[in-house]
Amino acid sequence: MPKTSARAGRVRLSCDHIYEYDPRPIVGDVVYCRAHRDYYPVVLNAVEWHLRCITSHCRYGAYLGDDKPQAMRMAGRHLAKFPSHTIKADYGDQEPLIIGSAQMPLLIVTNP
Ligand SMILES: [Zn+2]
Ligand SMILES: [Zn+2]
Repeated sequence: MPKTSARAGRVRLSCDHIYEYDPRPIVGDVVYCRAHRDYYPVVLNAVEWHLRCITSHCRYGAYLGDDKPQAMRMAGRHLAKFPSHTIKADYGDQEPLIIGSAQMPLLIVTNP
């Protein structure tokens, strides 16, 4: 598992672009906007559910906004398709949820 991903997160810049940075900057930090090719201050911590499949060959990932039921539904949908996969669900600075099991696709285990 890449050890950099736990502190990654998306923020909105003053130019209105939203990007993921690792680690996530805080409001007031000045960061590089890839679209503008210039530096802009962070105006908002875009705290939202971020799903990432941590099964090695799988590249599934999704941002679901501030909607936990929707995030859990999307995780369940991916695990229904690929029952052996495991998804990490991040929300801001909370402890990430680890979701996935061959028998119970929606079993949620924290601190594995
Ligand atoms: Zn921009
Ligand atoms: Zn997967």
